[in-house]
Amino acid sequence: MSHHLPLIAIVPNRKPADYIASIERAGARTLVIDRARTAARDVLDDAAGLLLTGGGDVDPARYGEAEDPTFEAAEEGRDEYETAIVRLALERDLPVLAICRGVQILNVALGGSLIQDIPSQHPSGVNHSLTDPKWAIAHDVTIATDSRLHAALRERITGEGLLPVNSRHHQSIKAIAPHLRVTATAPDGIIEAVERPGSTFCLGVQWHPENFLEHDEFGGLFRAFVEAAAVTTGTARSLRSSS
Ligand code: MN
Repeated sequence: MSHHLPLIAIVPNRKPADYIASIERAGARTLVIDRARTAARDVLDDAAGLLLTGGGDVDPARYGEAEDPTFEAAEEGRDEYETAIVRLALERDLPVLAICRGVQILNVALGGSLIQDIPSQHPSGVNHSLTDPKWAIAHDVTIATDSRLHAALRERITGEGLLPVNSRHHQSIKAIAPHLRVTATAPDGIIEAVERPGSTFCLGVQWHPENFLEHDEFGGLFRAFVEAAAVTTGTARSLRSSS
Protein backbone atom coordinates (compact mmCIF):
# COMPACT_ATOMS: atom_id res chain seq x y z
CA MET A 1 0.00 0.00 0.00
CA SER A 2 2.90 2.35 0.64
CA HIS A 3 3.11 3.42 -2.99
CA HIS A 4 -0.41 4.83 -2.63
CA LEU A 5 0.80 7.33 -0.06
CA PRO A 6 1.13 10.81 -1.58
CA LEU A 7 4.65 11.79 -2.62
CA ILE A 8 5.91 15.13 -1.27
CA ALA A 9 8.83 16.77 -3.09
CA ILE A 10 11.18 18.57 -0.70
CA VAL A 11 13.56 21.28 -1.89
CA PRO A 12 17.01 20.37 -0.57
CA ASN A 13 18.75 22.29 2.18
CA ARG A 14 21.68 21.58 4.48
CA LYS A 15 19.66 19.72 7.12
CA PRO A 16 16.59 18.03 5.66
CA ALA A 17 16.17 15.31 8.34
CA ASP A 18 13.46 16.98 10.46
CA TYR A 19 11.45 17.97 7.38
CA ILE A 20 11.55 14.42 6.04
CA ALA A 21 10.56 12.95 9.42
CA SER A 22 7.68 15.41 9.88
CA ILE A 23 6.23 14.70 6.44
CA GLU A 24 6.59 10.93 6.75
CA ARG A 25 4.99 10.94 10.21
CA ALA A 26 2.02 12.78 8.67
CA GLY A 27 1.49 9.90 6.23
CA ALA A 28 3.37 10.70 3.03
CA ARG A 29 6.42 9.52 1.12
CA THR A 30 9.20 12.04 0.53
CA LEU A 31 11.55 12.87 -2.31
CA VAL A 32 14.40 15.29 -1.65
CA ILE A 33 14.87 16.98 -5.01
CA ASP A 34 18.23 16.71 -6.77
CA ARG A 35 18.31 20.23 -8.22
CA ALA A 36 21.31 19.56 -10.44
CA ARG A 37 19.68 16.61 -12.16
CA THR A 38 15.94 17.15 -12.16
CA ALA A 39 13.93 19.87 -13.87
CA ALA A 40 11.17 21.41 -11.78
CA ARG A 41 8.57 20.28 -14.31
CA ASP A 42 9.65 16.63 -14.07
CA VAL A 43 9.65 16.69 -10.25
CA LEU A 44 6.08 17.99 -10.19
CA ASP A 45 4.88 15.40 -12.71
CA ASP A 46 5.54 12.80 -9.99
CA ALA A 47 4.78 14.76 -6.80
CA ALA A 48 1.47 15.44 -5.06
CA GLY A 49 2.80 18.35 -3.02
CA LEU A 50 5.81 20.64 -2.60
CA LEU A 51 7.65 21.51 0.63
CA LEU A 52 9.88 24.61 0.62
CA THR A 53 12.53 24.43 3.36
CA GLY A 54 14.67 26.79 5.42
CA GLY A 55 18.05 28.21 4.46
CA GLY A 56 19.97 31.35 3.57
CA ASP A 57 18.72 34.69 2.31
CA VAL A 58 16.95 35.30 -0.98
CA ASP A 59 19.00 37.59 -3.26
CA PRO A 60 17.42 41.04 -2.66
CA ALA A 61 17.92 41.92 -6.34
CA ARG A 62 14.88 39.70 -6.86
CA TYR A 63 12.74 42.32 -5.16
CA GLY A 64 14.67 45.35 -6.33
CA GLU A 65 16.88 46.10 -3.33
CA ALA A 66 20.63 46.26 -2.70
CA GLU A 67 22.19 43.77 -0.29
CA ASP A 68 22.07 44.58 3.42
CA PRO A 69 25.48 44.03 5.14
CA THR A 70 23.98 41.00 6.92
CA PHE A 71 23.15 39.23 3.63
CA GLU A 72 24.07 35.54 3.62
CA ALA A 73 23.34 33.86 0.31
CA ALA A 74 21.68 30.48 0.10
CA GLU A 75 23.31 27.64 -1.83
CA GLU A 76 24.05 28.47 -5.47
CA GLY A 77 21.02 27.97 -7.67
CA ARG A 78 18.38 27.73 -4.93
CA ASP A 79 16.71 31.09 -5.68
CA GLU A 80 16.25 30.29 -9.36
CA TYR A 81 15.11 26.72 -8.84
CA GLU A 82 12.71 27.43 -5.98
CA THR A 83 11.18 30.44 -7.76
CA ALA A 84 10.48 28.30 -10.81
CA ILE A 85 9.15 25.27 -8.95
CA VAL A 86 6.83 27.15 -6.62
CA ARG A 87 5.31 29.13 -9.50
CA LEU A 88 4.79 25.92 -11.44
CA ALA A 89 3.29 24.13 -8.43
CA LEU A 90 0.79 26.96 -7.95
CA GLU A 91 -0.07 26.98 -11.67
CA ARG A 92 -0.94 23.30 -11.31
CA ASP A 93 -2.66 23.92 -7.95
CA LEU A 94 -0.41 21.39 -6.20
CA PRO A 95 -0.42 21.80 -2.40
CA VAL A 96 2.53 23.88 -1.14
CA LEU A 97 3.86 24.15 2.42
CA ALA A 98 6.58 26.78 2.87
CA ILE A 99 8.76 27.00 5.97
CA CYS A 100 11.08 29.90 7.02
CA ARG A 101 13.17 30.73 3.93
CA GLY A 102 10.37 28.89 2.10
CA VAL A 103 7.74 31.49 2.98
CA GLN A 104 10.22 34.20 1.97
CA ILE A 105 10.93 32.72 -1.47
CA LEU A 106 7.19 32.12 -1.94
CA ASN A 107 6.48 35.78 -1.24
CA VAL A 108 9.28 37.04 -3.50
CA ALA A 109 8.37 34.62 -6.31
CA LEU A 110 4.86 36.07 -6.29
CA GLY A 111 6.02 39.70 -6.32
CA GLY A 112 6.49 40.63 -2.66
CA SER A 113 9.53 41.90 -0.74
CA LEU A 114 11.43 41.13 2.48
CA ILE A 115 12.68 42.89 5.58
CA GLN A 116 16.38 42.10 5.08
CA ASP A 117 17.41 42.26 8.73
CA ILE A 118 14.84 42.41 11.52
CA PRO A 119 17.25 43.49 14.34
CA SER A 120 18.38 46.60 12.44
CA GLN A 121 15.30 47.36 10.32
CA HIS A 122 12.45 46.41 12.67
CA PRO A 123 13.94 46.37 16.21
CA SER A 124 11.70 45.40 19.13
CA GLY A 125 11.79 43.39 22.34
CA VAL A 126 10.70 40.25 20.47
CA ASN A 127 13.47 37.70 19.94
CA HIS A 128 13.22 36.12 16.48
CA SER A 129 16.61 34.38 16.77
CA LEU A 130 16.40 31.87 19.59
CA THR A 131 18.55 29.08 18.23
CA ASP A 132 19.12 26.60 21.05
CA PRO A 133 17.41 24.24 21.48
CA LYS A 134 15.83 24.39 18.06
CA TRP A 135 12.35 23.84 19.55
CA ALA A 136 12.69 26.60 22.17
CA ILE A 137 9.59 28.81 22.28
CA ALA A 138 10.60 32.36 21.33
CA HIS A 139 7.31 34.25 21.03
CA ASP A 140 3.59 33.93 20.42
CA VAL A 141 1.88 34.47 17.10
CA THR A 142 -1.70 35.72 16.69
CA ILE A 143 -3.53 33.58 14.15
CA ALA A 144 -6.53 34.66 12.07
CA THR A 145 -9.48 32.57 13.23
CA ASP A 146 -10.83 32.06 9.69
CA SER A 147 -7.54 30.69 8.32
CA ARG A 148 -6.52 27.20 7.24
CA LEU A 149 -3.63 27.48 9.70
CA HIS A 150 -6.11 27.99 12.55
CA ALA A 151 -8.15 24.98 11.45
CA ALA A 152 -5.01 22.80 11.26
CA LEU A 153 -3.74 23.73 14.75
CA ARG A 154 -7.03 24.56 16.49
CA GLU A 155 -6.36 22.36 19.52
CA ARG A 156 -3.21 24.29 20.42
CA ILE A 157 -4.49 27.84 19.82
CA THR A 158 -5.94 29.86 22.71
CA GLY A 159 -9.33 31.53 22.58
CA GLU A 160 -7.50 34.79 21.84
CA GLY A 161 -5.90 33.19 18.78
CA LEU A 162 -2.45 32.87 20.34
CA LEU A 163 0.04 30.09 19.57
CA PRO A 164 3.61 29.79 20.95
CA VAL A 165 6.29 29.17 18.30
CA ASN A 166 10.05 28.84 17.90
CA SER A 167 11.91 31.46 15.87
CA ARG A 168 15.22 31.41 13.95
CA HIS A 169 15.03 34.06 11.27
CA HIS A 170 16.62 37.46 10.71
CA GLN A 171 14.42 38.23 7.70
CA SER A 172 10.65 38.25 7.14
CA ILE A 173 8.01 39.39 4.68
CA LYS A 174 7.84 43.17 4.16
CA ALA A 175 5.42 43.84 1.28
CA ILE A 176 3.01 40.92 0.99
CA ALA A 177 2.73 39.56 -2.56
CA PRO A 178 -0.51 39.96 -4.52
CA HIS A 179 -2.91 37.06 -3.88
CA LEU A 180 -1.29 36.14 -0.57
CA ARG A 181 -2.98 36.85 2.74
CA VAL A 182 -1.33 37.38 6.15
CA THR A 183 -2.71 34.82 8.61
CA ALA A 184 -0.37 35.22 11.61
CA THR A 185 1.77 37.97 13.12
CA ALA A 186 4.21 38.23 16.03
CA PRO A 187 3.61 40.79 18.85
CA ASP A 188 5.93 43.26 17.03
CA GLY A 189 3.91 43.02 13.82
CA ILE A 190 6.36 40.76 11.99
CA ILE A 191 4.49 38.56 9.49
CA GLU A 192 4.70 34.94 10.65
CA ALA A 193 2.30 33.11 8.32
CA VAL A 194 0.58 33.55 4.95
CA GLU A 195 -1.90 31.67 2.81
CA ARG A 196 -2.99 31.93 -0.83
CA PRO A 197 -6.79 31.83 -0.73
CA GLY A 198 -7.04 31.00 -4.46
CA SER A 199 -5.14 27.72 -4.02
CA THR A 200 -6.35 24.37 -2.75
CA PHE A 201 -3.51 24.48 -0.18
CA CYS A 202 -0.75 27.09 -0.13
CA LEU A 203 0.47 27.96 3.34
CA GLY A 204 3.71 29.39 4.65
CA VAL A 205 5.05 29.84 8.17
CA GLN A 206 8.08 31.79 9.34
CA TRP A 207 8.82 29.48 12.27
CA HIS A 208 10.07 25.86 12.22
CA PRO A 209 7.24 23.38 12.91
CA GLU A 210 9.47 20.51 11.72
CA ASN A 211 11.64 20.82 14.85
CA PHE A 212 8.92 19.51 17.22
CA LEU A 213 9.31 15.82 16.51
CA GLU A 214 9.39 14.68 20.13
CA HIS A 215 5.93 15.92 21.13
CA ASP A 216 4.50 16.62 17.67
CA GLU A 217 3.06 20.05 18.57
CA PHE A 218 2.68 20.98 14.89
CA GLY A 219 1.64 17.58 13.56
CA GLY A 220 -1.76 19.02 12.64
CA LEU A 221 -0.14 21.36 10.12
CA PHE A 222 1.80 18.59 8.38
CA ARG A 223 -1.29 16.35 8.37
CA ALA A 224 -3.41 19.09 6.77
CA PHE A 225 -0.77 19.49 4.04
CA VAL A 226 -0.47 15.75 3.41
CA GLU A 227 -4.25 15.34 3.37
CA ALA A 228 -4.51 18.07 0.72
CA ALA A 229 -1.79 16.28 -1.28
CA ALA A 230 -3.60 12.95 -0.94
CA VAL A 231 -6.73 14.51 -2.43
CA THR A 232 -4.66 15.94 -5.29
CA THR A 233 -3.17 12.51 -5.98
CA GLY A 234 -6.60 10.93 -6.12
CA THR A 235 -7.81 13.62 -8.51
CA ALA A 236 -4.80 13.20 -10.79
CA ARG A 237 -5.33 9.43 -10.88
CA SER A 238 -8.99 9.68 -11.80
CA LEU A 239 -8.22 12.25 -14.49
CA ARG A 240 -5.60 9.96 -16.02
CA SER A 241 -7.80 6.87 -15.90
CA SER A 242 -10.74 8.64 -17.51
CA SER A 243 -8.73 10.02 -20.43
MN1 MN B 1 9.63 34.88 14.61
